[in-house]
Amino acid sequence: MTQKTNLRIALVTGASSGFGRAICTRLIADGYVVIAAARRIDRLQQLQDELGSNLYPLELDVRDLDSVARIKEIIPEHLSDIDLLINNAGLALGIDPAQKASLNDWLTMIETNVIGLTCMTHAILPGMVKKQSGHIINIGSIAGKYPYPGGNVYGATKAYVAQFSLNLRADLAGTCVRVSDVQPGLCGGTEFSAVRFHGDSEKANALYANVEPILPADIAETVAWVAALPKHVNINTIELMPTAQS
Ligand code: NDP
Repeated sequence: MTQKTNLRIALVTGASSGFGRAICTRLIADGYVVIAAARRIDRLQQLQDELGSNLYPLELDVRDLDSVARIKEIIPEHLSDIDLLINNAGLALGIDPAQKASLNDWLTMIETNVIGLTCMTHAILPGMVKKQSGHIINIGSIAGKYPYPGGNVYGATKAYVAQFSLNLRADLAGTCVRVSDVQPGLCGGTEFSAVRFHGDSEKANALYANVEPILPADIAETVAWVAALPKHVNINTIELMPTAQS
């Protein structure tokens, strides 16, 4: 592991698959030490085997608000000074009309996409403000902007992410802390659709029938670019779509 004084430290939530995994891979290639957080620690340990000791696996459920509040005590002291927080952990559950939706699914999305992301930010932000440097990149979605049937609570959680990001920016102006919201469209190569349809791969695959989706590496490239811009430049919102998605 690189010496503490020269470290650029990133914390990526939802690092065990999809975008999060690709973002960890890319940030390590860019010279970061990455704390990779998710519930499936075995996946994170495999990722460490692949990427080496500059990845630190952290078992974390972002809905566990006590652990989130104590996150700076849970991670090793020499990694606790976070430069870059990627709030990526999130999920969609169900694509049913509101009148048929499961309340449990709705609550899980709110707890993860809204409350988890908010509390992670609350835990990490004071350290960034104190050192007058840092960047929070939230993974939102175009679903927060463009309504579609069945998008009900998922879309609403991502609209929250968009507005929270902009409001944070307003509060943080003058602190040198940056906040960005990366909003992808339809993306393949992740577990998102399988999770959404509770493992029904036929329904999940149907989503991609006529569209060549963007891929996790495209998201990682975008996140790395947003993070690497000069510190006086803040990308507020960036939307990226498959070329074929209407
Ligand atoms: P994946 O399902 O592949 O990845 C989701 C990640 O979130 C997993 O690593 C999962 O890890 C983690 N996660 C879920 N719940 C929790 C939790 N409670 N605590 C900690 N980690 C959690 O999906 P994607 O990579 O596609 O999605 C990543 C983000 O991108 C999400 O926020 C999603 O809403 C957003 N997005 C996805 C799009 C797509 O088309 N794929 C489009 C637009 C936005 P584990 O289960 O191990 O905890």
